[in-house]
Amino acid sequence: MSTLTIENLTKEYGDVTALEDVSFEIDDEFVVLLGESGAGKSTLLRCVNGLTEPTSGDIYLDGEAISGSQPEVGMIFQQHNLVEGISAYLNALTGSLADTSTAESLFQRQDRETKTRALDALETVGLLDEAHQRVSEMSGGQQQRVGIARGLVQNPSLVLADEPVASLDPSSAESVMGYLKKAATVHEVTALVSLHQVNIAAHFGDRFLGLREGRLMFDVGPDELTPALVDDLYGSVETVALAATDTDQTGEEKQRLEVEV
Ligand code: ADP
Ligand code: MG
Repeated sequence: MSTLTIENLTKEYGDVTALEDVSFEIDDEFVVLLGESGAGKSTLLRCVNGLTEPTSGDIYLDGEAISGSQPEVGMIFQQHNLVEGISAYLNALTGSLADTSTAESLFQRQDRETKTRALDALETVGLLDEAHQRVSEMSGGQQQRVGIARGLVQNPSLVLADEPVASLDPSSAESVMGYLKKAATVHEVTALVSLHQVNIAAHFGDRFLGLREGRLMFDVGPDELTPALVDDLYGSVETVALAATDTDQTGEEKQRLEVEV
């Protein structure tokens, strides 16, 4: 677990302001970053992971300024970035390496502890029995679960996931999000997960950050994620979907959502 602190983060690409003066702190939670396409979600995650240099502002992990790529930060991508021709286990173990021979030679050098962690991580995402299956033979949901396992192997204290279920059908998306939440809980990592599907987010988030045009519009807990707030972020279509599809909600919650719609 760790504390991520973002202070006055701004990122400009030429004339485009992708992030504007964003500040927040998250601490030992499963936090969902909401916002429509172009809102700045990927830019924010890439700044935290050191893949993108902020224009201004500061990022701290447990009080230490982040600079460049950090071993204590695990990343799970939308397109899972796996090596399709090798097994789930080798992928979990060696990360996204360009070619199979590199992955296999690296495999020889991994210590026993790392190998055990790879198997633990595959077990967490329910793929221990499929550990030796080629990724190319797996479903999209299974592949994304391998991506989650890989994000856990370096023992991160913070895991970032950029629209990890964007390319999946709704029921696979729910299932994969369930595994991601379980993984964060079991491995005790703070998680910052971007999603554009509000109904899925509402099931899993401990807290919700809303980005619109690079600005932080809200920072709320589950009880405060009202359709009115979601409307502000997306317009009304998603709000109707939230009330209609969120079948796991209690009757009372559902009623509250319907009344506010
Ligand atoms: P999201 O992930 O929420 O869809 P992004 O962070 O990808 O949003 O993009 C935020 C804004 O920054 C968009 O206007 C996008 O076009 C712009 N942007 C993102 N990456 C780049 C880049 N490498 N070069 C120029 N503009 C970019
Ligand atoms: Mg994005």
